Amino acid sequence: MTVSHTPDPEPRFEHLMNRLRERRYRMTPQRVALLRLLASSQGHPSAAHLFDQLRDQFPTTSLATVYKTLSLLDDMGEVLELGFSGEDNRYDGNKPHPHPHLVCIRCRRIVDAPIVVSQALEHEAAQASGFSIVAHRLDFYGLCPDCSAAR
Ligand SMILES: [Zn+2]
Ligand SMILES: [Zn+2]
Repeated sequence: MTVSHTPDPEPRFEHLMNRLRERRYRMTPQRVALLRLLASSQGHPSAAHLFDQLRDQFPTTSLATVYKTLSLLDDMGEVLELGFSGEDNRYDGNKPHPHPHLVCIRCRRIVDAPIVVSQALEHEAAQASGFSIVAHRLDFYGLCPDCSAAR
């Protein structure tokens, strides 16, 4: 059985800082704090959730600032945006490349699925359809261990 380690968020944080600095993006203390949250959060937070966490420290932060930074990072391919119909988008700032997720249908917890989707799958889909594939999305829906235990 594999033990899941919480990765050191520091390299990811530094990387995000450097990417925004390259763009000459103005690094206010609240934006730095937002990048730190994104680099360290494992739970695929929504913009509102990130905003809530920032607001304690920076009462003048606006939700618009959070969205602006997220959309910039998305344009740069530095955040993975997960859209769900009828609810807020969720963001993965640790792993910006497509990877499978487990979504709890009760508490809406989202975790990375500890499996590897082989490149062969994309290749096969491309071959069979004539599509030139740029990304994929794979979500597993069910009850998380906590929600299962609470039944
Ligand atoms: Zn749950
Ligand atoms: Zn993820």
